[in-house]
Amino acid sequence: MNEKGNLSINSENFLPIIKKWLYTDKDIFIRELVSNACDAVTKLKKLMIMGEADHIPADEAFSVHVVLNKEEKIMQIVDNGIGMTHEEIKKYINQIAFSGATDFLSKYEEKADGDNEIIGHFGLGFYSAFMVADKVEINTLSYQEGAAAASWSCADGIDYEMADGTRTERGTTITLHVSEDGEEFLDENKMYEALQKYCAFMPVPIFIDVMTNEEEKAEAAEPEKKDNTIHISQEEAATLTKDEILAKANKDSEEEKQEEEKEEPKPLNDPSPLWLKQPKDCTDEEYKEFYHKVFFDLNDPLFWIHLNMDYPFRLKGILYFPKLVEQMDVVEGQIKLYSNQVYIADNIKEVVPEFLLLLKGVLDCPDMPLNVSRSALQNDGYVEKMNSYITKKVADKLNQLFKADRTAYEGFWDDIGMFFKYGCMREEKLYDKIKDALLLKTTDGVYETVAEYLEKNKEKHENKIFFVTDEAQQAQYIRMFKEQGLEAAILTSPVDKPFVSFLEYKNPGVKVQRIDADITDTLQEKTEGEESEAKKQADAFANTKMENLFRGVLGNENLKVKAENLKAQNVSAMILLSEESRRMMEMMEAYGDNEMYKAMFAQVKPDETLVLNKSNKLVQFLMDAAGKEDKKEDCDMICHQVYDLALMSHRTLTSEEMTAFIDRSNQILEKLAELEK
Ligand code: ADP
Repeated sequence: MNEKGNLSINSENFLPIIKKWLYTDKDIFIRELVSNACDAVTKLKKLMIMGEADHIPADEAFSVHVVLNKEEKIMQIVDNGIGMTHEEIKKYINQIAFSGATDFLSKYEEKADGDNEIIGHFGLGFYSAFMVADKVEINTLSYQEGAAAASWSCADGIDYEMADGTRTERGTTITLHVSEDGEEFLDENKMYEALQKYCAFMPVPIFIDVMTNEEEKAEAAEPEKKDNTIHISQEEAATLTKDEILAKANKDSEEEKQEEEKEEPKPLNDPSPLWLKQPKDCTDEEYKEFYHKVFFDLNDPLFWIHLNMDYPFRLKGILYFPKLVEQMDVVEGQIKLYSNQVYIADNIKEVVPEFLLLLKGVLDCPDMPLNVSRSALQNDGYVEKMNSYITKKVADKLNQLFKADRTAYEGFWDDIGMFFKYGCMREEKLYDKIKDALLLKTTDGVYETVAEYLEKNKEKHENKIFFVTDEAQQAQYIRMFKEQGLEAAILTSPVDKPFVSFLEYKNPGVKVQRIDADITDTLQEKTEGEESEAKKQADAFANTKMENLFRGVLGNENLKVKAENLKAQNVSAMILLSEESRRMMEMMEAYGDNEMYKAMFAQVKPDETLVLNKSNKLVQFLMDAAGKEDKKEDCDMICHQVYDLALMSHRTLTSEEMTAFIDRSNQILEKLAELEK
């Protein structure tokens, strides 16, 4: 039988398109061909279960072999699956874009038990072989009793030739005559890499066989006969009794047997990945081991979520919350997307909720409409449903951890906080679900929810949350806070900047401000009862006096100065910058280079106030010395120094400011040394 024809392509020849365009990753052909081979096995297993292939032994060992022959530039994908008849080749291969998988499914859907784990619905899969081959051959024998082997070959992707096949065992061999484009894949390491990428969890054991020359090929076809002779040297034989010789022979064969067992080739893939198991059947150790293996992370994950959904859509997977190695780590997640155990891609933002991209995990979504266009996915209802489901699961897990073991939960918070804050901002639905489990770590070293913080501090400052952005720099404020029994939330990560505004937006009526935005009443020494008119006047006078002094010395006519009685006597001065102004400055930093904003920002002056502490001795000295000619030199020096000290607790000094500060500090010390002489 010989048959020739022209591949039934509807419009013009689109193989060049497949080659150049369709797949940006050339290695994808291996995914397509190996998944077809796995599908062929899966289909056959199904038929066996349904009693439609009773002539095949129940314990049949199924496998897929990728055979590489560098010398002859041949690659073969060999399976012992369902095979194809002559007619089936015509139907499934010759009609491009006619997916046999779809046909198979619709035919057996009702009979099968619902979980149709057939991989291929990519339609054009088989033809991706032409991305790396000049000529492709199929040699196949259908599982059907009495079926005849069939072959197909096509040298240019357009004209095919069909004939009787030579395969004597059930299954299919796809042979690629590898072109220059695909030569790299004849290398065992390269092939291993590609198979690990796409096929690491495919459901049938996969092996690579490397063929180097004719001799080895023959050997592979016919495994070496076992040599049953007993290996004993003449000298040894002379010293051993007959029983000892026999015992040694037995031992030798025992060892050989063990060795043989050890050498039983292991597939390169894991045909039953953990995510397919029922969560209740998985141990913590298994989850951790899977994590280490798949994500090459030596650290244990903090916790994980096993997604296992069958209805109304199928979604399985495991999401891991990784431990941050360092607080400042650039968080980089990895979500591997699979469809029926076939790897599709990493971090597809059109499919996975954006906030999840900071996690590590595997998602297997067999119902995902995976075609080659990503943009189509963005507005897909399925994707949206899946996202809501995942978001809900993540929220449930968090709430459950929070409720079940608060101490353990707090232990995780430094690692997961950043992730959830980001998640809440990206997806307000998530915020609504987990808002009661969001924690603030405070300067007292405790973790509190927003509600707990507000409740605890309501006597001292109602509806106000204070925070610090840099614990070292703002240490002076923190100390003052602590001395008065106040606490501030530590919000130091990059996510915290927008999160502060987000918290305000979500908690109307609550002000969230940096620790140096304002001095709360608690920090001030207040006189009891009504203030006398005389005191008010004295205060106003002191204010003006200090303002004039500092404006003059610092040469800054716009400086706002306020004299207050702070409880902390050792603090001479501090700088307050209103929260609104601080946020504006932050925006300027972020967008300052943008021409459009530049003009807008040029008008903005930071709303800064220098607060002098009247309870402090240096300030008291200044009050006294201001205006006195003989004290002018000391007065100037102290003013500058006090201002710089306040500035340092507020922000980093510029290099000029720092140089001046150091020079002045040295002068002060010299003066002190003079006095001591
Ligand atoms: P898809 O896999 O998306 O259906 P393909 O172009 O990859 O599309 O394959 C077309 C069809 O050819 C398959 O659905 C299947 O029926 C058949 N086929 C391909 N490879 C094999 C194989 N190794 N064994 C049996 N049938 C195969």
